[in-house]
Amino acid sequence: MTNTEPAPMLFEDFLTKSFDGYAKVSDVITWLSINHVKATIAKPTLTLPCLAECDRSTYFDCYEISQETIGSGRWHDIAMHYNCRHCRRGIYDFAMQIRIPDNPKRESELIAMGKWPPYHERIPEGVLDLTGSDRELFLKGWKAERAGLGIGAYTYYRRVIEDQKNRIIERLIDAASTCDMPVEARRLLEQAKKEQQFASAIDLLKQGLPESLRLKGHEPISLLYSTLSGGIHEHTDGDCLDGAKRIRLLLTTLAARIQRVLDDEAEVNAALSGLLRGKQPSKDQTSR
Ligand SMILES: [Zn+2]
Repeated sequence: MTNTEPAPMLFEDFLTKSFDGYAKVSDVITWLSINHVKATIAKPTLTLPCLAECDRSTYFDCYEISQETIGSGRWHDIAMHYNCRHCRRGIYDFAMQIRIPDNPKRESELIAMGKWPPYHERIPEGVLDLTGSDRELFLKGWKAERAGLGIGAYTYYRRVIEDQKNRIIERLIDAASTCDMPVEARRLLEQAKKEQQFASAIDLLKQGLPESLRLKGHEPISLLYSTLSGGIHEHTDGDCLDGAKRIRLLLTTLAARIQRVLDDEAEVNAALSGLLRGKQPSKDQTSR
């Protein structure tokens, strides 16, 4: 007979790595009464990215737990609140159900109910704008990827790319139009924006796109599309996870590139208008 029961997890791993569904956890209890009817829940220190001031991984300490000592043998709703040891402003809140065993040789059982913030990373600037009305699907892909669900993540990302390809092309061309470029390149991009055929638009982009919006010299939409080759049925879950990572990386890099080009343009505009204002003598000066 084979034993298919998964090995119990550590409480810290349950909170930081999966926090999903049901799990048996080996180290939830720090104290158990002699008659095994009451136990105290552990409050492990967690290492998580601080999304507030620190912007890096730091230690998080549990500063509040809804119920520290609970009865054994039945389910309890427990909320744990964590904050960043360094800046105190980064937070994580976990809501879960816990059942501790009345037999100390057995593990505790946990069910994840919800957490805030839902992601351990700041979603890169610009990518939510780039994914348009499919941003929810993108976030589901992101969540699936972080949970190691390759087929799920790949499927969500693929849908986003296929649905939003025209929007991504438009954003790319809008950003490109703020760059200095030869007249012919500008003409090609304007033509690409009006082009109804996806393949023809890509050909025009390949010719006209400025270097600042290429990824290592490549036209980014073709790169994104090259990650979608083949159906998910032909690939293992691990292959799909690798594919999902590539799509996410290309999409977030492209969003950052577009953002940088637009920021540069805004900066140049601000500097220019400041310069022009400085050249115009004010009325006070002319009247003196
Ligand atoms: Zn912090």
